Amino acid sequence: MKVAVFGTKSYDRQFLEAAAKGTEIQWHFFEPRLTETTVPLAHPFPAICCFVNDMLGGEVLSRLAEGKTRMIAMRCAGYNNVDLAEAKQLGIQVARVPAYSPYAVAEHAVGLILTLNRKYHKAYNRVREGNFSIEGLLGFDLHGKTVGVIGTGKIGQLFAQIMHGFGCHLLAYDVQPAEACTKLGAKYVSLDELFAQSDIISLHCPLLPATKHLIDDDAIAKMKPGVMVINTSRGALINTKAAIEGLKSGRIGYLGIDVYEEEADLFFENKSETVIQDDVFARLMTFPNVLVTGHQAFFTENALEAIAEVTVENLQEFAAGKPLTREVKVD
Ligand code: NAD
Repeated sequence: MKVAVFGTKSYDRQFLEAAAKGTEIQWHFFEPRLTETTVPLAHPFPAICCFVNDMLGGEVLSRLAEGKTRMIAMRCAGYNNVDLAEAKQLGIQVARVPAYSPYAVAEHAVGLILTLNRKYHKAYNRVREGNFSIEGLLGFDLHGKTVGVIGTGKIGQLFAQIMHGFGCHLLAYDVQPAEACTKLGAKYVSLDELFAQSDIISLHCPLLPATKHLIDDDAIAKMKPGVMVINTSRGALINTKAAIEGLKSGRIGYLGIDVYEEEADLFFENKSETVIQDDVFARLMTFPNVLVTGHQAFFTENALEAIAEVTVENLQEFAAGKPLTREVKVD
């Protein structure tokens, strides 16, 4: 079976090729991401393989359905960029990789916390320039701090475990509390209580209509002054303009994000020679207490191996006409 891969990077090619060795899958790698402009490339392919910033809204899906495409294999866990209702209507099946390495993302979230707190990025540059002053690098002990975890699924639970190891008190909020978190000593509380009591808030819930802009002006106003906010989940969980106001007023003391609501036009590409047109993002970059990584939380070799293997399994099920074990459907 021929499968078109959109938004291909060298690492996608490396891991997908290894996982498909000896199978009937023939990859056709396209560098552009899937958009209304690039969708004709998909026409001859019964299945396509997409990622977080491919555009899978109504228009692109109906153009896919005009061609041969009947299956979308997402090589990621999130599927907020897919119009599932439209896909169903058009007879296009969607599968994903629900879990690959939750450790990768949980560990990256902790990395953001440590870097923002102890300012390793600044220390690295200083020392390389022969500046051994530690003025301005003052941090705080994580031990004894209260950490609020929003979304205690696979990643949130692991994150909670690591923070428990640092000696933090854990607060949690989820629509479905997890026993594993309660056993760690986490206390499930209302969102308002979590906002009011946490020194660090980390987001691990999916982007849904109910969670869009979960962190907005109102939420920020309820937080402790100087709070640290970490987002490794999806950009639109945070209203970026509200976060900027929070940073300006000092209510948010630190912001660490691996995802950004308008990341599709920026992330995964080298823009170092380009003038960034996104003024909101540009403003974020001016704060000394903001750390942005470009959606790399998942990016470990363990995760890429697992993603490629499961993506191949999803495509093999489709090729064999079997029910898709990891199909994503409208609720
Ligand atoms: P999961 O499905 O195991 O857990 C999600 C949790 O969120 C569940 O416990 C669910 O009950 C909870 N939830 C749902 N609606 C909620 C709401 N309204 N309020 C609070 N909690 C709610 O998912 P996971 O594997 O832990 O992944 C979490 C998120 O991490 C994914 O949705 C994805 O967006 C993001 N992610 C990011 C990266 C990255 O590289 N940055 C990689 C993988 C996943």
